Amino acid sequence: MGTNEITLLARTSTEEPFKVTFRKDEDRLFITCTCPEGAHGEFCEHKFRLASNDLMMLQHPGQNSEMLNAHIWVIDSPISDKLIHLLQLLGEDEPDGEAIENAKAEIGQAMREGTVSGT
Ligand SMILES: [Zn+2]
Repeated sequence: MGTNEITLLARTSTEEPFKVTFRKDEDRLFITCTCPEGAHGEFCEHKFRLASNDLMMLQHPGQNSEMLNAHIWVIDSPISDKLIHLLQLLGEDEPDGEAIENAKAEIGQAMREGTVSGT
């Protein structure tokens, strides 16, 4: 049986790093975070950046390969397309605030409820 849970430590300004956990349950992927927003199931910066394979968000560079494994799960799930869509929205010359909020809410829900991979 392989690992079906990966926990990454997110860089924070406080002493205690937040934990972002990627959990694979059958074909569903759940992503949680221990920060105040994330603990309520909301989409947060930590989930976003660690799911996007952002090295700068890692507390310990030694977790590189674990983040890559988590990212492979993300790529294999519908969350990947949603993240790309959000990045496109954020990159526009005149960002559409409402569209960005909607995209974040949608990703938050997908990470909370688990998304089915492969389809
Ligand atoms: Zn968080």
